[in-house]
Amino acid sequence: MTTRTVMAKSNQRIAVFPGTFDPVHLGHIDLIERSAALFDRLVVGIGENPEKTALMDLPARKALIENLTAHLGNVTVEIYRGLTVAFAQRLGAGVILRGIRHVGDLDFEMRMAVTNRSVSGLDTLFIMASPQYLFLSSSLIKQIAAGGGDVASMVPPEALQHLKRKAPGIKKRRQGRGA
Ligand code: ADP
Repeated sequence: MTTRTVMAKSNQRIAVFPGTFDPVHLGHIDLIERSAALFDRLVVGIGENPEKTALMDLPARKALIENLTAHLGNVTVEIYRGLTVAFAQRLGAGVILRGIRHVGDLDFEMRMAVTNRSVSGLDTLFIMASPQYLFLSSSLIKQIAAGGGDVASMVPPEALQHLKRKAPGIKKRRQGRGA
């Protein structure tokens, strides 16, 4: 399916922003807010990955992103399993969005984008991370949190609550300090 047929069918510019969002952080939210302004509808897709042990379960991630994007009238959040291109096509999306932070992201992302286009005709649109979030990633946040570090400036307060509950390092230190 091409972008043009999607447009003709739904008459809406629909984009899918797929990811793991475990946990969602300020860089993700920034990208969602900026992208929502570019499309009629933006669907944040939380991909299920049975091979990875997640910090937050899928419904909790969905509820959290829904809360954090409630001010954006054209953003919805869905959980999906299987190929991202199949998910995007089911929704009638014309484009897949991915965030790029630095050149290190490009190798993997370019290969995915080219492969996705060749199997589905769907284009991937890359959006640069904002400068203040260039080095922010969920895995880094989990590492810092597990080591008892302060991640309050990296995630929304609601996500911080999950990290405090789930990251043992944070819990231990806080209990140790009597906080
Ligand atoms: P994935 O495992 O699919 O990379 P992530 O949850 O890590 O899932 O990221 C989801 C999307 O958000 C990806 O396109 C990723 O490039 C983008 N992203 C991650 N961190 C940032 C950031 N700091 N700023 C902007 N986009 C980001």
